[in-house]
Amino acid sequence: MKVLVLNSGSSSIKFQLFEGTGWQVIASGAVSRIGEAEGEVEYTWQVPDGPMQTGRQGIAIPSHQDGIDHIIAGLRAAGVLADLAELAAIGHRVVHGGERFHRPTLVDDAVVEAIREMSALAPLHNPANLDGILVARRLFPQVPSVAVFDTAFHQTMPRTAYRYAIPEYLYTRYRVRRYGFHGTSHHYVGERAAALLGLAFDQCNLITLHLGNGASATAIGAGRSIDTSMGMTPLEGLVMGTRCGDIDPAILFYLADQLGLNEPALDDLLNRQSGLLGLCGVNDMREIQRRAADGDDAAELAIGITAQRIKKYIGAYYAELGRVDAIVFTGGIGENDANIRRRSCAGLENLGIRLDEGANQSSARGERTISAADSRVRVLVIPTNEELAIARQALAAVAAAGGDS
Ligand code: AMP
Repeated sequence: MKVLVLNSGSSSIKFQLFEGTGWQVIASGAVSRIGEAEGEVEYTWQVPDGPMQTGRQGIAIPSHQDGIDHIIAGLRAAGVLADLAELAAIGHRVVHGGERFHRPTLVDDAVVEAIREMSALAPLHNPANLDGILVARRLFPQVPSVAVFDTAFHQTMPRTAYRYAIPEYLYTRYRVRRYGFHGTSHHYVGERAAALLGLAFDQCNLITLHLGNGASATAIGAGRSIDTSMGMTPLEGLVMGTRCGDIDPAILFYLADQLGLNEPALDDLLNRQSGLLGLCGVNDMREIQRRAADGDDAAELAIGITAQRIKKYIGAYYAELGRVDAIVFTGGIGENDANIRRRSCAGLENLGIRLDEGANQSSARGERTISAADSRVRVLVIPTNEELAIARQALAAVAAAGGDS
């Protein structure tokens, strides 16, 4: 029994094929630059007990349908998916599920329509996610497709956390509220943290920090998301690669007035030209750390603002939760950058948060504790694995629906 996970973006499709009993990844890769003159297929696959094969092929990929065709043809040629009947489910990452989707959902025509309606809230992501779903349903009508939403885990937030202090009709008529994102990742590392702590997830209070190119913090109370830093869109909250995170919204009026910027220009400025890139000219944290170590003041400031914002959210969520069992770092920066972790937790000893600097700096990989033995709050590094979480949830949704559909 196998599960295919598809993450369809506007011009790319990433995939992973899992063998569903041991959840081993037997193939992974991506097709990118869909619709451009020169596309690309990248893959890594491994027939059980066979050698790892990797490759890259430059080829035009006019549409998502062609992209998925390439993936399936490649999986067949590699011998990892002889027959589509081996697929128990296809799990699709969908960014925005609005208020309607609280859990992974088997896709039918009504679900397709609902995801389409949600496109107004996520115009860059949902149409691309939907493309992948439509193509998969057309090509493999016999394989159940399951939509796994980035927003679903956060649907447990109380209204005091998800409503903004703006007129009520903007919520009731225009659905303006906090939705939160990265939910699959926060949920996954939260459950792993509970397992490491030896606690039931529904008894755990956690602060999970997903720090990658996009970044968000979540307060998990008794196993449920009770607050999260991303808002109606993934722009709010922490400092990100190219997104500003929290700013005074009046800055927008001022810039519109002073620079004559219209909505697309403001959107570009705050989503694609800001964050680390805006502060110091690059958005790759490895390069920023190198520059800071060489004395570059802009890089040092970018790191300082990033760490201070993370610390501010740790404090805020500590106050909301009252008791914190563990703080969890994940994502490319959270998993790898000891300097950001150290600076985010520095000075929080009175809150019971104390790192073991040796463990923090260690080059160890995988799930690990980086807090000192006498730290009241455990501090953990847990590599996220959104694809695995999507695959498991997709299979569970199919099983809950009574097998095949
Ligand atoms: P993600 O979006 O989760 O893939 O994370 C991407 C971010 O993680 C980029 O800013 C990378 O520079 C950063 N990153 C990856 N590896 C490291 C590392 N070893 N040290 C610091 N940052 C890293």
